[in-house]
Amino acid sequence: MTTKKHTALARYSIGMGDRFGLQGVAQARAVQQAETEGVVVTPVWNKSNREHQLVGTQPADVRREADAAVQTLGWTHPYFVDADHIGFKNVDGFVDASDFFTLDVADAIGRTAPAETVNALVKHLSPYIGALQLPGLDEPLKLEAATLHAAAHSYLAAVQEAARLYRHIAKARGARPFMVEVSMDEVNQPQSPADLLVILAALAAEKVPVRTIAPRFTGAFHKGVDYVGDPARFEREFDADAAVVAFAVRKFGLPPDLKLSVHSGSDKYAIYPAIRRVTRRRECGVHLKTAGTTWLEEAAGLAESGDAGLAIVKEVYAQAMTRFDEFCAPYAAVISIDRAQLPSPETVAHWEGRRFALALRHTHTACPEFNPNLRQLMHVGYKAAAEMGARYRDAVTAAETIVGAAVTRNLLERHIRPLFL
Ligand SMILES: [Zn+2]
Repeated sequence: MTTKKHTALARYSIGMGDRFGLQGVAQARAVQQAETEGVVVTPVWNKSNREHQLVGTQPADVRREADAAVQTLGWTHPYFVDADHIGFKNVDGFVDASDFFTLDVADAIGRTAPAETVNALVKHLSPYIGALQLPGLDEPLKLEAATLHAAAHSYLAAVQEAARLYRHIAKARGARPFMVEVSMDEVNQPQSPADLLVILAALAAEKVPVRTIAPRFTGAFHKGVDYVGDPARFEREFDADAAVVAFAVRKFGLPPDLKLSVHSGSDKYAIYPAIRRVTRRRECGVHLKTAGTTWLEEAAGLAESGDAGLAIVKEVYAQAMTRFDEFCAPYAAVISIDRAQLPSPETVAHWEGRRFALALRHTHTACPEFNPNLRQLMHVGYKAAAEMGARYRDAVTAAETIVGAAVTRNLLERHIRPLFL
């Protein structure tokens, strides 16, 4: 295991998930290539407990993969291993292997916090009640007394939960440094910029050294497909959130490199120009968290690699069709599949590899064969691949050249370049 102690993300960082742990080098190649093109993007290998359970891996496996990948490529900049969306139920298994912790406190939103702590937060923020003029925003941020009270009631218990979790990890890690992300994205109700201000003030008051914050933005962030919503509205919101982050750093003493984190961030081509404009104009950073997009490229690469690989992905699709409800259940909140638009396994059985890859692969250019419903079903279909065990992993290894190139290209050309270069 590495003995390096990394203590900061670069301005730009990308979270990368790798269901089966075979694409670490191909993923690292994307950031290495970006460096030669002029930008250092910190790679963060993330895996949630949900993924570990479905695939049968351990946090230490991700650590081994990340260390091996950076060693193979001679990556000398920082990199991290993210315990993604953890809570008290599962954090202990991640403490040694991870040096980045995404504290998911969405479940605590709306819980009752002790009245005296709510009152203290409201009092602390009362100087800002009214119209708060933030640099670079055309319209002042409206923080009315009622909004402030409502936000304190909604989010303070969640912040207190994050603080407890942070202290628990800090105690267990001792002298080993780690990055803290706080995520509230897996909820239905978006947080407004004013909510974010209250959340950040509360995190600062609780002395949580948060480095990335993942709010729930307006619009739909479904897995592996494009943003659904109004990109102009997203841009205004993202810009206001970035202004709030900068304000919170100045006023509340949060870490100076605190930045926004965009979850389910892969494939959101409709809003990448907005994120790019805001981060350039404000000279601020962003963390883009992706995960399933790498597995989907692995599958597309397999489909293109020859008969054996194609047979595997067709089997995954057939399984996912048969066990639709079972496969979709853990992801119900973050996928949207129109079943009527799914081709039958019999139809798919006749496809050539190229046809399958065209239906599955999501690119910037509109492709008539692309089917976002099939893509989302394949997104959750990795459970079938996991059940194949060594048969699946051997097929990927046999097709390594094609698959790895597809994985690198996807991260570099469709994500890193449009956002960071
Ligand atoms: Zn998330």
